[in-house]
Amino acid sequence: MTLFHSYFIQCFSRLKRVPVSPRGQFRLGLLLLVLLPAWAMQVSAFELKGLKWHRAEAEFYVALTGTSATGISWNSAFIAALNEWNAKTPFNFILREEARDPCQLDGVNGVDFRPDLCGTEFGSKTLAVTFIRRTAPQLLGEPNIVESDIVVNQAEAFNVYDGRLVQFGIQGLDFRRIALHELGHVLGLDHETSKAAIMSPSIGNIDRLQADDIAGVEALYGGLANCTIMNLNYGLFSGALDANDCTVQELTAGSSDTSFIDIYRFDLFSETAIEFNMTSSALDSVLILADTDLQFLGFDDKSSNTCNSSLSQTLPPGSYFLLANTYDVPVKEECGNQGNYQISASFSSSGPTALGASTSLTGAESNAGFRAGITGDKGLSYGNQFKPNDSLDISAEITIDPQHQGQAGFLFVAALVGEQILFLNPQGQFVDSTASPTSITSSTVKFLSSIEQIEIATALVPAALDIQNIVVDFYVGYGLISNTNEAYYHQTPLNLTIAP
Ligand SMILES: [Zn+2]
Repeated sequence: MTLFHSYFIQCFSRLKRVPVSPRGQFRLGLLLLVLLPAWAMQVSAFELKGLKWHRAEAEFYVALTGTSATGISWNSAFIAALNEWNAKTPFNFILREEARDPCQLDGVNGVDFRPDLCGTEFGSKTLAVTFIRRTAPQLLGEPNIVESDIVVNQAEAFNVYDGRLVQFGIQGLDFRRIALHELGHVLGLDHETSKAAIMSPSIGNIDRLQADDIAGVEALYGGLANCTIMNLNYGLFSGALDANDCTVQELTAGSSDTSFIDIYRFDLFSETAIEFNMTSSALDSVLILADTDLQFLGFDDKSSNTCNSSLSQTLPPGSYFLLANTYDVPVKEECGNQGNYQISASFSSSGPTALGASTSLTGAESNAGFRAGITGDKGLSYGNQFKPNDSLDISAEITIDPQHQGQAGFLFVAALVGEQILFLNPQGQFVDSTASPTSITSSTVKFLSSIEQIEIATALVPAALDIQNIVVDFYVGYGLISNTNEAYYHQTPLNLTIAP
């Protein structure tokens, strides 16, 4: 993570001017080019600074009047350009066929022909200008674009045609390729000088998007694919930030922040209070919460005087990322930017929680679903962190794959405590599996219904069993009598952490 104040300096009123000259010369204006860092392993040349739209989409208002000499309306040429970006790249322009004034800072994106550049002269021979009018700072990476407009110089002679720029009998410059180029600026691309591209600084014979243009959009909006996304398990787990990890630069594409980052995904099915604590003696820890489109929802404000980080928030149902990060430039000299960490993750919700995607012993796909919960207050709330004297009810619910319903099967409950694996037996006791490490002990044998309820424990008081501190990860699952070598279970364990 980069320090906050730097964003306020550079980002609130950034203005990008991209004038185009009809003589084949594009002027850079205020455009500052930053070379794409070397992380992109393929030989790519597209240019981007990292400014981008949230969710890779933008509404664009288009209602141009008039028709070119070749009989194609300006409006349909512009819409064709917009659709080409939509069809060939992950970016999505949402077309609104209404007029909007591109000179207004009005929160919407528009295009129009104008006699001047919103009150000032167009540069000599300027064809069109794209403004990035407003951006919103992000916790990580470059700001998001929130408004961009295109102003086209109505004094210039335009036409609409394919192919070579200069053709016998055709007057005026092809407006469609100019629209393509300007829309490339709108979605966050800069000029490209070393490869064939519609984003070339020189208008020319290229009239369609080129591989480099498409690769540029994919890189700008596809940063998440550069990083490994791990499943968040509640309880306590370890990790490390080091050269094996993704960087913020890779995640957000285009930023200069080279700090390492780990990404954990978790899914909530009811309103849930979450609390995360990241502890490390080696890292200037920063915890960040985001949705899966990398819209940032919160981060640790670093009020603590240690290298640790903590974050708590109540979240509505949805899918989220917890990002474990560190400052790229050390804020606290005693804390570094590479090393090991531990995260403790706890939650409290009004209902049982889903246990992630289904999996099986052989990795087979299934449509089984798994939910479970631990309550210390008879179902008023569910969580994973409890005291030794709490009276715990632990239950699970399995939605059996429709293909398995009605068949003879078995249910099982496994409890992982450190290296030890225990299975719930039909008598309701957890027994050590080390005597028969290769077989699953089932808790119940029955014909499988569509939904199976499992009571794992009722009114369990850890202190009564002399347990003051324990971390248990529960797994529940089922199998078929016809194939006892296969069992279906879930990827995210049900964690129980007991501590005084
Ligand atoms: Zn340009």
